[in-house]
Amino acid sequence: MVRAQRQLISIIVPIYNEAPNIPLLYDSLRKHLRGMRYDFEYVFIDDGSQDYSAQVVQSLANRHKKVRLIEFSRNFGKEAAVSAGLHEAHGDAAIVLDADLQHPPSLIGDFIQKWQDGADVVVGIKRYSKHEGQFKKFSSNMFYKIMGMISHTPITPHASDYRLIDKQVLDAFRAFSERNRMTRGLIDWLGFRREYVNFQAPPRKYGERRYGWRALTQLAVRSFTTFSLVPLKLAGYLGIVILIVAGSLSAVAIVDQLFMNDPLGLGITGTAVLGLLLLFLIGIVLACLGLMSLYIAHIHDEVTNRPLYVIRRGHSLPNENDHEFSHATNEKESVEA
Ligand code: UDP
Ligand code: MG
Repeated sequence: MVRAQRQLISIIVPIYNEAPNIPLLYDSLRKHLRGMRYDFEYVFIDDGSQDYSAQVVQSLANRHKKVRLIEFSRNFGKEAAVSAGLHEAHGDAAIVLDADLQHPPSLIGDFIQKWQDGADVVVGIKRYSKHEGQFKKFSSNMFYKIMGMISHTPITPHASDYRLIDKQVLDAFRAFSERNRMTRGLIDWLGFRREYVNFQAPPRKYGERRYGWRALTQLAVRSFTTFSLVPLKLAGYLGIVILIVAGSLSAVAIVDQLFMNDPLGLGITGTAVLGLLLLFLIGIVLACLGLMSLYIAHIHDEVTNRPLYVIRRGHSLPNENDHEFSHATNEKESVEA
């Protein structure tokens, strides 16, 4: 009897000082994934932890051959850790989740179900619970408001890093070479068919959250500047507004004073003329800055070097395409059968 080959799912966990959480997370994962008709591999990325996180993962890896440890030489940040995990994943799909049990492993079944139903990316949407402060909620809402207004790729509010990513999206992701990255933003940029799973994050079990206000602000600024050119063009817009204002005021002044002998009775002084002239020049300078920013935007586009387009499935050779397509669908069906 030929047994249908099982699909492999990679579980990717970035870790920074999470030693007490790791065994809990691993047990919880094992508990919820047991009995599923998939193979799982576990990729833990130790992001330069100062506690004994790496040793904890290593001892897991010694006992379970499905567990792998990638150890960074120092702390490079969660974005880098997740990127490394996605690069190392061998699975037909990868699931990224936090080590602190704030991304409940009990929902992995839902993620996989949506994937089987045809989604290429399944995103966890974080619903705020009582234990989170009003300010956190407010600032998070503000962030998504601004992002929604200025971003050139649509951003789903409250989309978290808890997500499942299909192999073809992973392959596309590996083509990115930009350095200043926001992993989830890049995955959003890629498109593909998306589905959502809601979850509420329980409080962190052990340790403290690493993302303090400074780091969060940095991340927000980085998101604004990598996914939007509006901040760059701001000076230009301002310059245009100032030019229009200064221009019309000057026109009124000139006509009134020089041509019509001041019927409005403005009595424009030399200082006022100087003020207008200054305003006008500032407008020109800012407008020129805006013009330059357009060129900088082009340079920005070139250096981020994102792929021009992303193909959902290989369509280059008709025969191969047929084969690949039926192969892919078969694969998904074989597990459901
Ligand atoms: N993390 C990481 N590198 C860092 C900071 C955090 O790999 O420099 C990991 C951390 O171990 C956890 C996840 O990223 O698995 C989320 O971190 P945290 O809980 O501090 O963030 P929050 O839940 O507040 O978003
Ligand atoms: Mg957390």
